[in-house]
Amino acid sequence: MWTRPVSGTVDGVQTNPAARARALTKVYGTGDSRVVALDHVDVDFHSGRFTAIMGPSGSGKSTLMHCVAGLDEPTGGAVFLGDVELSGMSDNQLTALRRDRVGFVFQAFNLLPTLTAWENITLPLDLAGRAPDRELATTIIEAVGLGDRLHHRPSQLSGGQQQRVACARALITRPDVVFADEPTGALDSAASAQLLRLLRTSVDDLGQTVVMVTHEPAAAAYADRVLFLADGRLVDELAAPTADRVLDRVKSLERVRV
Ligand code: ADP
Repeated sequence: MWTRPVSGTVDGVQTNPAARARALTKVYGTGDSRVVALDHVDVDFHSGRFTAIMGPSGSGKSTLMHCVAGLDEPTGGAVFLGDVELSGMSDNQLTALRRDRVGFVFQAFNLLPTLTAWENITLPLDLAGRAPDRELATTIIEAVGLGDRLHHRPSQLSGGQQQRVACARALITRPDVVFADEPTGALDSAASAQLLRLLRTSVDDLGQTVVMVTHEPAAAAYADRVLFLADGRLVDELAAPTADRVLDRVKSLERVRV
């Protein structure tokens, strides 16, 4: 099976993270409407690891993910995807970088309604003029668990199935990082668990790097590490999380804020 190097190392030598931010700052608006969404955030997202980002509404989770993914322009600081620094890139360069090196899963599945599940999954490769890696495609298709529904259109699939298609579409290009923004927000608990297992499998079996914003402790528990944001700053982190430990940490951070 196709594998990636062990997390953060190549032949035992430490490598750069899949993505990182240094003193990342994002300010929206001016004067009375000025909001500091991110305040000098330093963070590393290591290769082949699953990181969850949590924090109260408005704490900067989406802004952090969008800036690191090259979807939003920082006000200050630096963002790197691998060794490539994003600041100073033109819009065209950023578009190409996102297409070639980043995968996205959004809360609203964003599938194309006229294409089948399979056509949706392979669309990024078609757009890039690349053929699917058969071995990888087989592994992903098995993990997605759609069976004979691969040739159905999104409207013939459940929400959970559609989101697993969206996830497969993000994985098929072997991106440096998959960014998932509240991917289980529109799913029931059974469908959420299936989607989270798919993300987990992509990390364990394919060596994928995954960064996921969530407000659900049960979802964050699938990650290797949980980062906690408050008021645009990283205020805490938890390794090897369980839902109970995440919930405890969320509660204690809320107490600090009161
Ligand atoms: P979260 O994802 O944790 O809910 P966000 O990153 O969406 O937080 O937002 C962080 C802060 O930045 C909030 O105060 C929000 O109101 C503000 N913000 C986000 N996007 C914009 C925008 N486009 N214009 C103005 N303020 C924004």
